Amino acid sequence: MSTNKHQGPPAGEEIILLKMGEMVLKGLNRRGFEERMMGNARRRLQPYGQFRIYSRQSITYVEPKTADCDMDGAFQAMSRLFGVVGLSRAKACQKDAGAIVETAKTYLNQELSAAKTFKVESKRSDKSFPLSSIQLSQYVGGELDDAFPNLTADMHHPEVTVHVEVRDYAAYVHADPIPGAGGLPVGMGGRAVSLLSGGIDSPVASWMMAKRGVALEMVHFFSYPYTSPEAKEKVLTLAKLLTPWCGRLTVHVVPFTEIQETLRRSCPEELFTLLMRRFMMRISQEVAERIGAKGLITGESLGQVASQTMEAMAVTGAATTLPVFRPLVGMDKEEIVRLSRRIGTFDTSILPYEDCCTVFTPRHPKTRPSLEEIQAAEAALDIPGLMQQAVEGIERIVMEA
Ligand code: ATP
Ligand code: MG
Repeated sequence: MSTNKHQGPPAGEEIILLKMGEMVLKGLNRRGFEERMMGNARRRLQPYGQFRIYSRQSITYVEPKTADCDMDGAFQAMSRLFGVVGLSRAKACQKDAGAIVETAKTYLNQELSAAKTFKVESKRSDKSFPLSSIQLSQYVGGELDDAFPNLTADMHHPEVTVHVEVRDYAAYVHADPIPGAGGLPVGMGGRAVSLLSGGIDSPVASWMMAKRGVALEMVHFFSYPYTSPEAKEKVLTLAKLLTPWCGRLTVHVVPFTEIQETLRRSCPEELFTLLMRRFMMRISQEVAERIGAKGLITGESLGQVASQTMEAMAVTGAATTLPVFRPLVGMDKEEIVRLSRRIGTFDTSILPYEDCCTVFTPRHPKTRPSLEEIQAAEAALDIPGLMQQAVEGIERIVMEA
């Protein structure tokens, strides 16, 4: 039973319904999934007012507790919540067949005016309601059929389905859900460190792993004065843009100048980028260990540049014992750009500030390095000393969602 007697009716006239995602199909712990998703929803909704959030039969209900909640803001926030496959706004009305018809006519006027076919689907959790679900659907369907001459009923492939739900305190009317963000609730998939540059790729890679339920912390390597304060601001902006999806993000800004200058001074130019990347991996692993993260994430895509060949990835991956996730590895640049636009990071990513990788780029980078030659080039370096200095200089910046 979905009675909720200890709580009052929702304030305001609309509520939000969230349909949960794939844990329904998978063997994942359903309760854990639900609770994680509701906890994430609760945090994401904080800026938009006070809400009551609870789940019944794979639907999560988001109900305003006060009449002044920002429902547009709340709905947009929920459209970016991983774990939700579909969402809709529903309008409350009296538990009366006539009131339900009137609400459907006005609340769904746009959808119903534009469609040719429709059907009505009813559910009642209040079994004392005088009509059965089928009777209610037939009644509402008949009335809407009369009210909208453009509509005919189609039980199998309707363009619009009018959903009616008779619950404890009110009846609710809503249209078909719109697609949600999908994926798994952030936190279900453990924690990882994402290497965030200012480019197009790494924000998309971060987003893809967050979508699989991974809680992220970011590491950014900063090469002042070779890279400008604006370049760092850009990276922080990118992290901020990811927070509606990922929740609050900590960015660990690592001073990288000393390491880069040392490598340039003492190592073969053609190996510079790879040696630098290996330091990135080592330092990221150090950060991961401190925060209990179990993997690293990069925005590498096979063959995109010289440092992203299979041999190069083997060499960079060998610098860490953690798994390195490269969710973009099989994607074309166009696909990455499309995703980047969709998630809202593209316009910031293309701002023309230099990245630490673009300073001291070798003229002829080695595309088929061997681990032996890399290790030989590193033999003369004080790796622990260089790392310690970088790690001690880390600045942590928290971007609130
Ligand atoms: P992006 O668009 O993400 O910058 P890219 O195609 O420019 O990627 P590279 O510059 O070769 O590729 O970097 C490969 C990956 O290494 C990046 O996706 C990112 O994960 C990581 N990386 C590069 N530079 C930095 C940096 N300054 N700080 C943190 N991570 C970095
Ligand atoms: Mg880059």
